Amino acid sequence: MSSAIWFRNDLRLHDNPAVTAALQQQQGSKAIPALYLASPGQWQAHHWAAIKIDLLWRHLAQFQRDAAQHQVALEVIIVDDWQQAAKACLSFCQRHQITDLYFNAEYPVHEQRRDRAVRVWLAEHQVTCHQFDGQLLVAPVIKTQSGGYYQKFTPFNRAWRAHLAAAGIPAATPLPQQDVTQQLVSIPPCPASRRDSSAWPVGEAAVQQRLAAYISDQVNNYAAERDRPSCDSTSRLSPYWELGILGPQAAVRLLQQLSPEFPYGLEQGADVWLTELAWREFYQHLMAHIPRLSYGKAFQQHTDNFPWNENTDEFLRWCKGRTGFPIVDAGMRQLAAEGWMHNRVRMIVANFLVKDLHIDWRWGEQFFMQQLIDGSFPANNGGWQWSASTGTDAVPYFRVFNPTSQSLKVDPDGRYIRTWIKELADCPTAHIHAPGAWLQAHNRSDYPQPMVDHSRARERFLAAFKQL
Ligand SMILES: Cc1cc2nc3c(=O)[nH]c(=O)nc-3n(C[C@H](O)[C@H](O)[C@H](O)COP(=O)(O)OP(=O)(O)OC[C@H]3O[C@@H](n4cnc5c(N)ncnc54)[C@H](O)[C@@H]3O)c2cc1C
Repeated sequence: MSSAIWFRNDLRLHDNPAVTAALQQQQGSKAIPALYLASPGQWQAHHWAAIKIDLLWRHLAQFQRDAAQHQVALEVIIVDDWQQAAKACLSFCQRHQITDLYFNAEYPVHEQRRDRAVRVWLAEHQVTCHQFDGQLLVAPVIKTQSGGYYQKFTPFNRAWRAHLAAAGIPAATPLPQQDVTQQLVSIPPCPASRRDSSAWPVGEAAVQQRLAAYISDQVNNYAAERDRPSCDSTSRLSPYWELGILGPQAAVRLLQQLSPEFPYGLEQGADVWLTELAWREFYQHLMAHIPRLSYGKAFQQHTDNFPWNENTDEFLRWCKGRTGFPIVDAGMRQLAAEGWMHNRVRMIVANFLVKDLHIDWRWGEQFFMQQLIDGSFPANNGGWQWSASTGTDAVPYFRVFNPTSQSLKVDPDGRYIRTWIKELADCPTAHIHAPGAWLQAHNRSDYPQPMVDHSRARERFLAAFKQL
């Protein structure tokens, strides 16, 4: 028996059941061959941002070196798209005389289809696939009492925690110390454009450190500060879950140390943060159970008949952060500059695009994916459909955020706005949330006047949505 590992969005050695199982099978100190299929065709189809590709490629280089210290020899192979995956896996297995291939399940529809094809093709060539669940704390198995899937977050969260309590958190498994650096094949040049992501560290060790520091120093303030974008008090771990550099198991193992009754009994900050991890898993469960979400359809299908505004100039103003609503523009400029945006502001800008400009949420969803370092199809789709009131337990359609009062609430002193909108650096706090009159009084035209009348836009949205 000769084993290999197929890495996907689980680019880590720790908390990786496929790695653990393959290492257990390995006899002696021989390197375990491992492959990662990089697919520029898939990246393009799913609108991967250049900054996310850069993070991936930087991490692959580090990960190859780290894995080699623990007996795993990683090879990166470029394929155009998933249709070539089976062929590429077979040729890899034949080259290394592999009889058993280990990998962790991925739940989106196209990846499930790819894995079925690979399993069948390899079986025909006497290679057995071994699939594990390691991407989520709870694989998409939670069912309601009637046997369906959860469509509302609150009962899902309850069931998800009960599942965690019953199943427990897997203990960390030690890795062998066996340096196989000699046998490494160099990583090919990245097959797509990249945008510098060096503000984000790579490598499992650095990311684990960031997680540990966050849990020990900041998580307790999470409930109080998470809605204040200027506090920067969230973990900024999202890009790492997305590429699987970090497993959610590592996070809950640390949270477990904060409460003997885990997943209950946590202080408020840690408890709310755990709930965010549950949101992440909820959206992945929905993706696994509802194929139409992977084909651009709304969860609430009747909302696909909304008469969307197709004005590309207005869309571009939103993309560029030139709407004249400072909190919206600050968010869009943070996204352009950092490839990341604070969660509360993501909600505000999404709400604005759909409910003030009446532009299809799918335009915003795609633009986010093209920009975000943490672009994640399930979380992004879920966040957009929640904001647009087209999703599972989305915000009710009649709840339209007022961008000015939201701004006052989340950024009362205007610090976040001033960080991202240099034209408003000298605007007094009394005017920062709606600076139109102040700009006019000072003959300033460097920052735009509001592009819509919020009250009228809201009325038009409500009237059109009611028609559905
Ligand atoms: C319109 C919109 C689009 C979004 N697109 C993405 C996306 O492409 N990728 C992505 O990872 N998240 C997305 N989110 C969710 C959320 O904004 C980010 O996960 C969060 O801002 C990441 O920052 P953080 O790591 O500091 O999060 P923290 O606040 O520290 O939260 C911890 C982790 O919980 C998860 N999480 C937090 N909030 C949510 C949420 N609402 N839904 C799902 N998971 C959550 C993330 O994995 C996050 O890293 C989106 C939200 C909205 C409203």
